[in-house]
Amino acid sequence: MAIRFRVLGAAGRDNALHVEIDSGHAVRRLLFDCGEGCLADLSPADVMAIDHVFFSHFHMDHIAGFDGFFRMNFARDGDNNRIWGPPGTGKILHHRFRSYLWNLHENLGSTWRVSDIGETEIKTWRYELPEAFETAHEEPAIFRDGLLILDEEDFTVEAMELDHLTASMAYKVTEKTRWNIDSQRLAALGLRPGPWLKSFKDHNAMPDDAMVEGRRAGDLRAELLVPTPGDSVAYLTDFLLDETALAKLRPWISGCRHVVCESQYRAADLELAQKNYHMTAAQVATLASEAGVEDLVLFHVSSRYLREERAELLAEARGIFPAARFPEGWNE
Ligand SMILES: [Zn+2]
Ligand SMILES: [Zn+2]
Repeated sequence: MAIRFRVLGAAGRDNALHVEIDSGHAVRRLLFDCGEGCLADLSPADVMAIDHVFFSHFHMDHIAGFDGFFRMNFARDGDNNRIWGPPGTGKILHHRFRSYLWNLHENLGSTWRVSDIGETEIKTWRYELPEAFETAHEEPAIFRDGLLILDEEDFTVEAMELDHLTASMAYKVTEKTRWNIDSQRLAALGLRPGPWLKSFKDHNAMPDDAMVEGRRAGDLRAELLVPTPGDSVAYLTDFLLDETALAKLRPWISGCRHVVCESQYRAADLELAQKNYHMTAAQVATLASEAGVEDLVLFHVSSRYLREERAELLAEARGIFPAARFPEGWNE
């Protein structure tokens, strides 16, 4: 059980984030944004295995690589053709789907679902390849209470809207807590391991007041089950880190293990950062420090800086949050 992630794209160029959630019995793959050239860092098999694509917003540097993704996957069937983003995502993706010539598609069948993440509801549209993606089929909206948008067997995804003079979504992936049997305790109670432990761990299969091995399941669970908290990674990019954003973000990413955060500017360019609704490395490091995260990965650094200036940008962050780093593979 682990989360593996990789920032795609080079320093000063377009970036994206690839996340793998490995539960031990299955691997799910998520892509956050899709800047130009980013998918070249993945094998074709990895691109074809991406289950969900999440967009922060649709400035070109975040979607310019989408053609590469869609070219490989447009005809795939299955229910992993899922795209998410801020309000307006369905409309923008519909234009993307329709912006190619489709005339040999009749025998191919694929369905794509695109969701607008609103504050109180998630609106989803379905697009069909046999129709050349012509019709946006509206699906029933899902009421949204809180930040949760996706609740899978092994992990959840939450989304928070931030201000980039347009809505920019931040995302957090969290593995669910795993409950393991304390084998020493099991032996001490004179119980034998066996198939009964599978349903014992599952609250749906065995309610707390059911009897198991001569005891109440709830009481035995309290004695035998040991929690292993899941891994987590947050993806934050393109927004103004003002007091309003800080107040929302601090508690949300508090306890998050990895934070991958845009760091467009150096401290001296704070004015530029504010004007363009972006962040400085020092601001990001302060957020990470106040929220108590374990690992801070800075990415989406402005192309205006040369290599030495990027080193200084990282040093500014490390002065506040020593564990700040650039992505592996940037060779900085
Ligand atoms: Zn932007
Ligand atoms: Zn950007």
